[in-house]
Amino acid sequence: PADPDLEGAFAQVAAWIGRYYRETRSYPVLSQTKPGDLVRALPSEAPVEGQAFERIFEDFQRLVIPGITHWNHPRFFAYFAISAAPIAVLAEALAAALDVNAMLWRTSPAATELEDVTLGWLRAMLGLPSTLHGIIYDTASIGGFTALAAARESLDLDIRARGMAGRGDLPALRVYITEHTHSHVEKGAIALGLGRENVVRVPVDDAFAMRPEALARAIDDDVAAGRRPMCAVATVGTTSTTSTDPVAAIRAVTRERSVWLHVDAAYGGPAAILPEFRWLLDGAHDADSIVVNPHKWMFVPVDLSVLFVRDPEQLRRTFSLVADFLETPETGVHNYMDYGLQLGRRFRALKFWFVLRAFGVRGMQERLRAHIALAQELASWIEAAPDWQVVAPHPLSVVCFRYVPGGIEDAKADALNTAIMDAVNATGEVYLSSTRLYGRVVLRIAIGNERTTRDDVALAWELLQREAFARLPLTAR
Ligand code: PLP
Repeated sequence: PADPDLEGAFAQVAAWIGRYYRETRSYPVLSQTKPGDLVRALPSEAPVEGQAFERIFEDFQRLVIPGITHWNHPRFFAYFAISAAPIAVLAEALAAALDVNAMLWRTSPAATELEDVTLGWLRAMLGLPSTLHGIIYDTASIGGFTALAAARESLDLDIRARGMAGRGDLPALRVYITEHTHSHVEKGAIALGLGRENVVRVPVDDAFAMRPEALARAIDDDVAAGRRPMCAVATVGTTSTTSTDPVAAIRAVTRERSVWLHVDAAYGGPAAILPEFRWLLDGAHDADSIVVNPHKWMFVPVDLSVLFVRDPEQLRRTFSLVADFLETPETGVHNYMDYGLQLGRRFRALKFWFVLRAFGVRGMQERLRAHIALAQELASWIEAAPDWQVVAPHPLSVVCFRYVPGGIEDAKADALNTAIMDAVNATGEVYLSSTRLYGRVVLRIAIGNERTTRDDVALAWELLQREAFARLPLTAR
């Protein structure tokens, strides 16, 4: 039976969310449950009779919440830290209630048009030209895949009609990345039938950024060998260290050689709304495609990623296949089902519109600046501490570092740093993650939650020092 007290249930959930925002720090950041805990706690079959909201909600709190790793916690410092601004949560609730499917313009004109408006705002905030057209996808991985598919289609190899299998006339199609490019590009190349061996890793410089002259050489060698360069990917804010490939120089190389340039600015792109970081997107203005993730560092809850393209028609030519039952009479409108794999689309623009209005450009800038300042301060603490090393440039809100007490061997330092991180994470107070640079384990602190304070960052640093000290031999203390 339907719950008779619907409004009471809504009020309880709203109150719970309000408390959650007030008390987030009382939860362990990293879930402390063991594999299988929730599966064992729940029945293996759906209930035959419907159950009351009260019971469901109680189980949510008692059984589900312990299995949550709190990404929305101010002391979540792993991967890229994110946050759901409360105003966006309200928008998500409204979008869920409306249950819009924004596949066609007519299936909710406001969803499509709000998408166009908010992405126009974002484009201007980033200093990108109005010749770029933005479309919302769920993630950068899907936006990146969509761009790669359009790049392949742009080669005029008749792949849409004839496919790739069994065609002796097709050259190897090549994609250029670096060892720091996010893995979704390689996954996309696999899914598009290019094969991993056609994903070329261009060498990087000491700052982990792609070397444009090495890219030029790789492309020219491929052409000389009869292979077909398809797409180069430049990253603004790589996942491990937040390094940025020199987009303008890469653009010059790709333009001269008619190669599609995709800019993955999933994490770093938002920083370009700060005048002092505008340079991050230098050269991106005439890229073929650019991805920026508002769900990473613009306080919009997962998921919402934006793909800007120079030629939206190219995207439409790649993906559009209008079934009889989806034909509509409107002209001059965007039917966004035509611009990617998926038909159904959530009304994601609403939460972004709420956030942009509630923060304003200035509010967004202030939050990003505060995060960058916190990261710089943390880096200065680490640099000043004996036996700790900051191991990569840290222009944005991520710091990579390592504990290397007196002359310890690399492999031992790897194990030591992993042990320190695991111990710190086990406290539940903070959560940080690691990566590898030059094959060595490196710890990362990523700042990105709206409510993170200096005290939160200081606590992380204190716990790291405490766990490092605890692992020093007694004689060395
Ligand atoms: N690009 C970069 C640089 C990333 O760091 C990430 C994820 O962290 C992605 C792309 C993938 O993002 P998404 O989860 O939106 O697919």
